[in-house]
Amino acid sequence: MNKRVFFGECMVELAQTAPGQYQQTFAGDTFNSAIYLKRLNGLQQVSYLTAVGQDTLSQGLLDLMHDEGLDTDLVQRCSDRTLGLYMVATDARGERSFSYWRDQSAAKQTLSLLQRQGGAQLLSGTDSFFFSGISLGILSDEDRRELMALLTTLKGQGCQIIFDPNYRPRLWQSQEQAKYWTDKAYAMADLAFPGGDDHLTLYGHNSVTDILNHVQGLGVTEIVLKNGIEGVQVVTPGNHCIVPTFQVDTVVDTTAAGDAFNGGYLAARFAGLSPADAAQQGAKTAAFVLGFRGAIVPREAFLTQQRKVV
Ligand code: ADP
Repeated sequence: MNKRVFFGECMVELAQTAPGQYQQTFAGDTFNSAIYLKRLNGLQQVSYLTAVGQDTLSQGLLDLMHDEGLDTDLVQRCSDRTLGLYMVATDARGERSFSYWRDQSAAKQTLSLLQRQGGAQLLSGTDSFFFSGISLGILSDEDRRELMALLTTLKGQGCQIIFDPNYRPRLWQSQEQAKYWTDKAYAMADLAFPGGDDHLTLYGHNSVTDILNHVQGLGVTEIVLKNGIEGVQVVTPGNHCIVPTFQVDTVVDTTAAGDAFNGGYLAARFAGLSPADAAQQGAKTAAFVLGFRGAIVPREAFLTQQRKVV
């Protein structure tokens, strides 16, 4: 089995169902992708690297990971912190607004806790390592440097580095700081999933050419550029193709479409499919998820209606 490590933060989600009533689930960009990957390609060993507390809520997340077949061997435990939380409220016109409590989350400590436990040694034998601009954004500068050192070590051992910039301005002190670290992350990556919106907001790129020049210039060799309804551009050495989106009759919720795309794409690539075929799988997975509320579609509905990649 190939070992796939996903690094990031999974938060408690409280979504409003009626005035004063909320439903509790869990979600996080890299976490969502890890789940969709594992559901579609059970032959991969998928391990989620994060930190949680020692409370009942944290145990709930670990139980979900077990139910989904994710490995918890890399989950760090924090005695004095717990999971971050966000609430999604919907106003009378259906507009959603988000409130976050994540400044003191256990996940922010992941790198320092991992280092204390043995750092890179714990990750030996990892075939691919996936992280995002959110995984980076929650860390201190010192931990970001530690992460880059860890990635250098892993890369030297032949591990594939995969990055999605997922730019969230509120996680950064300034746009300059976000650009600096996003560029460093791209420079480490073998495969990246830039988003059209992210590049417009972060770098002011307003064309596919601008984005591709930037990401290729930083040495990424497999680029999957997501652009919402416009589909994706897949660029590998000597190849450039456009893969359209799948038709969705009713878009119920766009949350996690990009994460689902990543999960589907990686499930297919790890099964040996070409980048173009993998992008089709990604688009199909994203389209399915757009038909449901929330980031993680109920397991039964997903498994009965989506065909596994292998
Ligand atoms: P992100 O969530 O990272 O911003 P996008 O909005 O680009 O990502 O969406 C990710 C993928 O989801 C797209 O590449 C596409 O395959 C699919 N997608 C997004 N919006 C639609 C839509 N309206 N209809 C069908 N597929 C869509």
